[in-house]
Amino acid sequence: MHTPTPAQLLQVWERGGDPSAATRALLLLGCSCDDEASAEALAALPLGRRDALLLALRERLFGAAIDVVTACPQCAAAVEATFRCSDLRLPDAVAASVPGPGSSFRLPDSNDLLALERCSDAAAARALLLERCVLATPRGKQPPEAPAEIAQAMARADPQADLQLAFRCPDCNHEWQPLFDIARFLWQELHAWALHLLREVDTLAATYHWAEADILALSPRRRQAYLELCAP
Ligand SMILES: [Zn+2]
Repeated sequence: MHTPTPAQLLQVWERGGDPSAATRALLLLGCSCDDEASAEALAALPLGRRDALLLALRERLFGAAIDVVTACPQCAAAVEATFRCSDLRLPDAVAASVPGPGSSFRLPDSNDLLALERCSDAAAARALLLERCVLATPRGKQPPEAPAEIAQAMARADPQADLQLAFRCPDCNHEWQPLFDIARFLWQELHAWALHLLREVDTLAATYHWAEADILALSPRRRQAYLELCAP
């Protein structure tokens, strides 16, 4: 993995105007892992492996500390917590295909997510996921005999893909474990970063009449120094 340049990241952000979260995650991996894996190989990674790479990329881009602000589901108080990327890193799944309770299955990947995005509702998505991922059903056991069990076995086999945070409300002591979606979180950060960077480019271009590519090539420190010089 390498750290993409600001110009490469802006390109990813621009191409990710498509609202698909699965596509955006692949764009992020494509700009940082393209030296070691083809687009097809990245799309075929189990989702836990994908999310582990996204956590590593997040640490490179925006640092190791992740601040999460959420509302307590019991009393609606705002609750803040800071997690470290390394704390959110779980062991890799042992194998890409796993014997399940009644059926063996392979772990879902980005290709599955892209296919699921075309489903009209959650029930259709679940049925399609089982159809794609369940490899074998022993005789006498008919799917969907245990779709919930298979979903649970999938989560157990690849816990990184189903990452839960631990929160405790300081006001009412309620404890809960919301899911943490690093793909969505990192994209939101990238979006905010891109808008901020474009504002800086706008300011510097208006003052110095430099080209966008030249401004993006400045180190953050030098860009900041020029911004301070041209602040009113
Ligand atoms: Zn509370």
